[in-house]
Amino acid sequence: MARTIPIVPANAQGDARVYARSVKGWFAGWRWALVAFTQALFYGLPWLTWNGRQAVLFDLDARRFHILGFTFTPQDFILLTLLLAVCALSLFLFTAIAGRLWCGYACPQTVYSELFQWIERRTEGDRAARLRRDRGPRNADWWARKLAKHGLWLMLAAWTGFTFVGYFVPIRTLGGELIAGTLAAGATFWIGFYALATYGNAGWLREKVCKYMCPYARFQGVMFDRDTLTVTYDVARGEPRGARRHSVKPALGQGACVDCTLCVQVCPTGIDIRQGLQYACIGCAACIDACNGMMDRVGQARGLIRYGTESGLSLRDTPRAWLARLWRVRVLCYAAVLGVLLALLATGLSTRTPLKADVLRDRAVLSRVLDDGGIENLYRLHLTHAGEAPLNLRIAVDGLAGITLPADEGHARIGAQANATLILHARLPADADVPAGTHPITFRITEERHDGLAIDAASSFVIR
Ligand code: SF4
Ligand code: SF4
Repeated sequence: MARTIPIVPANAQGDARVYARSVKGWFAGWRWALVAFTQALFYGLPWLTWNGRQAVLFDLDARRFHILGFTFTPQDFILLTLLLAVCALSLFLFTAIAGRLWCGYACPQTVYSELFQWIERRTEGDRAARLRRDRGPRNADWWARKLAKHGLWLMLAAWTGFTFVGYFVPIRTLGGELIAGTLAAGATFWIGFYALATYGNAGWLREKVCKYMCPYARFQGVMFDRDTLTVTYDVARGEPRGARRHSVKPALGQGACVDCTLCVQVCPTGIDIRQGLQYACIGCAACIDACNGMMDRVGQARGLIRYGTESGLSLRDTPRAWLARLWRVRVLCYAAVLGVLLALLATGLSTRTPLKADVLRDRAVLSRVLDDGGIENLYRLHLTHAGEAPLNLRIAVDGLAGITLPADEGHARIGAQANATLILHARLPADADVPAGTHPITFRITEERHDGLAIDAASSFVIR
């Protein structure tokens, strides 16, 4: 049964804005590792070259997507659809098993918010310093730090916008035009648009995007169940909470929570996880790191806040039991559909050829009788070649006894990464024993050197 995630009032930090405190710990380390990995990919990939061209380039003008050694054309739309379906199913599967892993560690909103908060802490200090300064007078120090922060934010946002557009326009050309001041209006607009979106989302809106704008946050509760891992506060162990000196053990009847509110202070969405699972919790585990640090200081066992499941058994306490509960209907269904989609995608990728053919019969000239009594139909053969080397092609027609192409139409050459349109005259001899009507025929295009590369294009031959 889907789990209902309660909606608890937004900001438990008590301020209109969230002033998240920095945190160190095992999960923070993982989060930064993922920030480094994803951003190294994002900022670095467009600068890589592959066979003399940009390794990853979505060339919308030429309608070709280059990804390392692969080139995808509009005819590969089905593969793109399958890839998107695989991504969606993977997200569903991981969410059903481990909650909001994507939101907490890899979502661009989380990643850029982390980077922008890092800049904020370097320029304005940690939570306490920022709060004190923002509640104080607007003096020269306040303005200088704000200007530095927003200046650095805008620079990072501009670089992000430039990189993003560099996936669609060759980035070295884009950089050259930018330096020379000859950037096209369209590229300028999209760099500015994406830069402002980054600056606004990661700098200003931040947790509001997750709480109020992201549709995934709203419907993921459907994928949760009692065995989904979420960040949970151990109420039985923590309550009744109460402040006490670090060295003092909890008295009889007192819970382990010392009510230090560190878990609230580090929360990037400003919630108090001790109120239970909330839709605003992005599963970043910052509160786990903060609470573990506090438990170390008061000499208590870690894990007062931890990854756990509603069914009451935490992963840490009973990993085998949790693993056994992976075999549940919801997870198996997602895994089965994902497996089928992956198999289809793998088959599609392994059997796809770089050459695509599309044939159209000339409808203006239905059927023509030649001087020798033969019958001729006219066709346009559109070839799309996504490979890295030119191809010498052999073209033949089949499907009717005696049907042929003129000798000079039996061969063609197409360049690398090129399109070509050929006019073909399919002919039937005068003595062919074929009745009037429409007959299916097939054009077979083969690569002259590699007989393995062969594609068929179906059409019809009309005899009046
Ligand atoms: S409650 Fe904890 S896991 Fe959830 S968003 Fe806040 S800090 Fe992150
Ligand atoms: S960090 Fe731990 S001890 Fe401190 S208030 Fe939160 S749950 Fe209680």
